[in-house]
Amino acid sequence: MARVNEHYLKLKAGYLFPEIGRRVTAFCKANPDAKVIRLGIGDVTEPLPPAIIEAMHKATDEMADRSSFRGYGPEQGYDFLRNAIADNDYKARGCDVSADEIFVSDGSKCDSGNILDIFGIDNVIAVTDPVYPVYVDTNVMSGRTGAGDNAGRYGGIVYMPATAENNFTPELPTQHVDLIYLCYPNNPTGTVATKETLKKWVDFAKANDAIILYDAAYEAFITDPSIPHSIYEIEGGRDVAIEFRSFSKTAGFTGTRCAFTVIPKTLTGTTPTGERIDFHRLWNRRHCTKFNGVSYPIQRAAEAVYSEAGKPQVAAIIKFYLENARLLREGLAKVGITTYGGVNAPYVWLKTPNNATSWDFFDLLLSKANLVGTPGSGFGAAGERYFRLSAFNSRANIEEAVNRIGKLLG
Ligand SMILES: *Cc1c(COP(=O)(O)O)cnc(C)c1O
Repeated sequence: MARVNEHYLKLKAGYLFPEIGRRVTAFCKANPDAKVIRLGIGDVTEPLPPAIIEAMHKATDEMADRSSFRGYGPEQGYDFLRNAIADNDYKARGCDVSADEIFVSDGSKCDSGNILDIFGIDNVIAVTDPVYPVYVDTNVMSGRTGAGDNAGRYGGIVYMPATAENNFTPELPTQHVDLIYLCYPNNPTGTVATKETLKKWVDFAKANDAIILYDAAYEAFITDPSIPHSIYEIEGGRDVAIEFRSFSKTAGFTGTRCAFTVIPKTLTGTTPTGERIDFHRLWNRRHCTKFNGVSYPIQRAAEAVYSEAGKPQVAAIIKFYLENARLLREGLAKVGITTYGGVNAPYVWLKTPNNATSWDFFDLLLSKANLVGTPGSGFGAAGERYFRLSAFNSRANIEEAVNRIGKLLG
């Protein structure tokens, strides 16, 4: 008798995006002429820039020739890419991260879920609220939580609210925690953490022998020079943090798939008998056993993100999305809506007008302005009465969306 993993049955059935899809489909069916603009899902819209495409083509041609063909590569990634990452993302920012502490993968979503393989089952998990749902759901699947309630909160998880009241800077937990998920620039709120805030977290982790799982998928959108791009810019970060990075939002790789995870060799945890073991060794073992590397042409494409030609092309796309975010922010402000984020991130987080619930505002925007956003409550209980708009779209759609918001709420 094959038994199922019962922990999966605790999951709240992927509630958010299917429900959005259901409501949008129903609306479109009833209003076939409506030109619906989707500002909901966090996926890029601009094509890959020429330097990246050129590198991908060249590497594909190499695969067609016996003399340059490559089979399995190193599971951890090719040195050319690991070195480019270490030099450009870390050494250039004064971070002490070496190439052999970088593990190239096919996505940060997978890495941030898979990382739980190397942690004991009874670690206490802390997440911000609202939160990127992957952190929570992967803990549920692996049996690290109790049952979920109607607001989507699971027993055993420590939730740290991030709202306008605390300036989207959660308090340090007052109870014992072992694993702390942080995401900056934040999805969904678009807010960032200062050096002082991150120092507080690093010191807390050090004092409590906890590990920070730091998701920096949106670091390329940081415009404020005082905001750290990496947790390793913080003194002591190497001793307490794993960092996730992705080419998905940085360089438009959501459909191309390449990311990486950094595990400093100085990062350790304990066995039940108190022996200290380094996590780098465990992740290396895990990665080599369950993963066989990212394809060669894609790693060459990722390398081109750091090339002389690639850097300005990638920067131009980021700038384009940030300009979209500015247009959204200013359009919303004009009709009296309070917004957060959207300056160092591609997401604008807004307080719903007239204190509407997130879903009521969703229905209003869809039915009256034919715009689709994401209800804040779908990211956690503390996201209720907030709403996320994404800047990933064409300029024409963003301008039209701002027009419609002006007409609806102005
Ligand atoms: C988009 C996103 C990622 C990147 O995921 P990939 O699997 O690399 O595409 C990681 N974390 C957050 C919070 C994201 O929004």
